[in-house]
Amino acid sequence: MNVSLRDRLQVSNSILETIGDTPIVRLQHISSTSRVEVFAKLESFNPSGSVKARTSFNILQKAMEAGDLRKGDTVIESSSGNMAIGLAQACLVMGLKLIVVVDPKINKLTSQLLETYGATIEMVTEPLEEGGFLGARLAKVKELLKITKNSFWSNQYGNLDNPKTHYQTTKEIYEALNGRLDYLFVATSTCGTLMGCADYIKANHPNTKIIAVDAVGSVLFGGEAGTRKIPGHGAGVDSQFLDQGYIHDFVKVSDLECAVGCWELLEKESILAGGSSGAIIKAFQKYEDQIEEGSRCAFILSDGGSRYLDTIYNQEWLIKNIPGVYDALTPIGGWKIKPSFEFNVAIVGLGPKGLYGLERLLAQLKNKKVQEIVNIHLYNKNEYFGAGDVYRFDQPNYLKMNFTNQKIDIRSQKQPKSIVKLKSYTSWLSDSTGIDESLLKDQFSSRKMVGKYLCKSFEDLISSAPENIKIYQHHEEVVNITENEDVLQLETFLEGKSKKLVEVHNLLLTTGHAGNRSEILENKESISSNIDFVYPVEKKLTNIDSNSSVAIKGMGLTFIDAVLALTEGKGGSFSGECENMEYFASGNEPAVIYPYSRSGALMIPRVGEMPNVPELRFFTAEKLNEIRKNSAYKFDFSGELLSLIKKEFIYRYYSVAFRNSGEDIIENLSFSEILNEIENFHKKYPFEQRFSFEALKSPFIQYKSYDTSAVKHLLEKTLAQVSEGRKSPLLAAISAWHDISPIFNDLYSFGGLTARSHQIFDTEYFSFFNRISYGPPLENMYKILAILKAGILDFSYGKSPKIAQLPNGKFELKNSYSETSKKALTDYHIDARIPKMKLPEQSSLLYKNLFKEIKMQVFQNIDETGIYETGGMDLSKEGHPISKEGKELHNITIYGTPTEGVTFDNDTLSRSRNDFSSVWANGVVDHLNKIISNSKNIK
Ligand SMILES: Cc1cc2nc3c(=O)[nH]c(=O)nc-3n(C[C@H](O)[C@H](O)[C@H](O)COP(=O)(O)OP(=O)(O)OC[C@H]3O[C@@H](n4cnc5c(N)ncnc54)[C@H](O)[C@@H]3O)c2cc1C
Repeated sequence: MNVSLRDRLQVSNSILETIGDTPIVRLQHISSTSRVEVFAKLESFNPSGSVKARTSFNILQKAMEAGDLRKGDTVIESSSGNMAIGLAQACLVMGLKLIVVVDPKINKLTSQLLETYGATIEMVTEPLEEGGFLGARLAKVKELLKITKNSFWSNQYGNLDNPKTHYQTTKEIYEALNGRLDYLFVATSTCGTLMGCADYIKANHPNTKIIAVDAVGSVLFGGEAGTRKIPGHGAGVDSQFLDQGYIHDFVKVSDLECAVGCWELLEKESILAGGSSGAIIKAFQKYEDQIEEGSRCAFILSDGGSRYLDTIYNQEWLIKNIPGVYDALTPIGGWKIKPSFEFNVAIVGLGPKGLYGLERLLAQLKNKKVQEIVNIHLYNKNEYFGAGDVYRFDQPNYLKMNFTNQKIDIRSQKQPKSIVKLKSYTSWLSDSTGIDESLLKDQFSSRKMVGKYLCKSFEDLISSAPENIKIYQHHEEVVNITENEDVLQLETFLEGKSKKLVEVHNLLLTTGHAGNRSEILENKESISSNIDFVYPVEKKLTNIDSNSSVAIKGMGLTFIDAVLALTEGKGGSFSGECENMEYFASGNEPAVIYPYSRSGALMIPRVGEMPNVPELRFFTAEKLNEIRKNSAYKFDFSGELLSLIKKEFIYRYYSVAFRNSGEDIIENLSFSEILNEIENFHKKYPFEQRFSFEALKSPFIQYKSYDTSAVKHLLEKTLAQVSEGRKSPLLAAISAWHDISPIFNDLYSFGGLTARSHQIFDTEYFSFFNRISYGPPLENMYKILAILKAGILDFSYGKSPKIAQLPNGKFELKNSYSETSKKALTDYHIDARIPKMKLPEQSSLLYKNLFKEIKMQVFQNIDETGIYETGGMDLSKEGHPISKEGKELHNITIYGTPTEGVTFDNDTLSRSRNDFSSVWANGVVDHLNKIISNSKNIK
């Protein structure tokens, strides 16, 4: 029998006299190497079962000695744990009343104990918006102190008698270890125990290193506050005691590690201890490598495990609350229950395509009556889930759709039906504005308004998800995806700081254009005179000075957005309509804007009312199937397809031109007969505009030189033609591409064109078809004309100029095609193109990493005509990436713009074009069922 035990067997005059002098035990099996000695001080031997017996008694005793507290007074404290129980016992002995302020997280056993000791429990039910439950409890304490006569706040968070209590605790350790201790591990919380030990050590044994054991999700040593399931260590608010200068180091321990530590202590040392003790065990093991051989380490184990029988030592609780626990530990006697299977899915990128994927997945899960828990993790770089970058609703109204309202519809035409009755855009808009739906159909909306519709549809979907489907929204950028056996690990950055890994079984990548850009990389870029991406326009373009000169690369939709942001967005205004529209400068816009592109041609705008046109006749699926000799057949774009496309343009143009002139329709004629009729038509109507596909493609061949007046003339002419709406032969011709493009997509996809002609299409025709078919609404193009007429737009260098940045930061524009030495200097350069994919070099961190980690490879179209790399990635017909080893990654599906190159023209709001989302949703349910049936077979 040792001395202190004999002491303890002496008669004490009160239970409070038995506080302290707790046993210290050598732990024989906790160190993995036996290089160091390990001792544990068991504070559960205190009469109220924890180290807080010391704190509570000392605070009360000191207050009584100081006359701040008298017998019969009321002690008030905020605590849901050991401090409350310590106080309850001490108050009972000392003739004091006790009110304990708790929150709903208090465990049943603690509240039973408090009631049994006769303490009054005051429960706060609502957390404060700022300060949470702790804030609410402290507010309640203050309120009670005011209304309770002769009351005293023991204040474990700020009363200096809290840390001072532990000079004695620490002294006892040195006494037991004959004054030799190298490391002391103490759990954080109020930091009273930690700082008491630290003060004592600094004064008496400065060579001992004190290691604070903190929780993942605690803010004490920095980092964001996070959910912590196991109480006892860590804190969500700063400590009033902590002085990091006294602490040698700290170790953070997760809930899972903490639970594992508790069970290890039980199994290896037969010590049933509380949560913070398990945290210390794990912290020591994590830190052990840094501890010098032969060192002596001691732990303060704050409490015992009996109050944790419902949590850490309860198998059901563990499985429900601590992810991964089933694999990480085995309770003594083995697991009596198994975790119910949970299937984890992620969608990375929550623009329209991610939203479509979510809609299909929910429909499939419901239709197939999936009962298992399915966790759907949604990741998006911005907070506009459903709208993404293009339709975020903090953008200005002048950024318009290039689709009429009637074409916008989140609803899928496919089975199974959606889990909720979603609305078409026009029906939603009509409900929101009170305007009759029929009047809205042919209108163009702002992208912001469409974003509101998309977000509303997103909210309707997630709020109607079945009970077993849990949806988690993460406003984070995914930067890497790695394979770990059968799961995928997602690595994210949050506000450029923390990173975490989430494991999922299956994943949909719908990162859109932004897939090529990384916010993380972008944020590092300083704002300079070279602006390489214009969105969000208000943020990116506001720094451009008034009266400066600006060069803009690209003449597509983004160019229009940028010009409007630099004019209307800077206070300029328009009056009048169509060709009479005038621009009134605000004085804040640049003095001159020099647009330029490869062709120098502006987009052809769109109108709501398109002409009635005949069906396709030459470029039909049937006709193409006749050409296609077998399923492996590759089409030669220039040799086989282009002439058919031209025929459709000509046929449609003249169908409307003939109809306008009251001539006979040409629908049943052969193409050579049609050409004859066209010649006759022009003889009869010599002033009618003649259609030329070549002139549509290279419009300036008709002009002597390329300059601002040529651009203005062509723009005025095009706008007049498009304004004819239903009567416009030009629009009729262009409409051919709208109908051809789905058929063409089938021919183009997965290397359906010969390699050489694939390249020709991508480099020479892709942007041409975009320019004529997907232009802005007419109104925005009239705005461009008005700005041009106001002298702000100057096209002198509009066609393939040479551009260079000078040492002084300015940009020099020079015409490459003219002999003149004319040149212009600009203060800014804006890249207003949406670049085509060029993987892996020009891509976001995520795609760069995907090429490394899961070994994605670029798509190559290879045949006897050559090898063509599109810049996109290699994909299977179901949208799964194919690795360098030729492996199809079935648990990843890519949908939307990132499939560009392998497929064609995914860059729209269309639900039907290259719809990998439906295939994916179906595949996810199959994947889930496969895992379940495999696990049944194993049993
Ligand atoms: C300026 C502009 C105007 C357009 N106008 C029209 C139009 O009028 N009509 C039309 O049909 N189409 C238009 N488009 C095409 C448009 O791209 C599609 O309509 C549509 O936005 C494509 O949807 P998406 O979900 O594939 O991509 P996006 O809408 O780009 O959405 C992708 C989302 O993924 C997020 N993301 C990307 N990388 C990550 C990552 N690593 N981690 C987490 N999140 C990530 C992005 O932040 C974004 O929210 C326009 C495109 C642009 C650029």
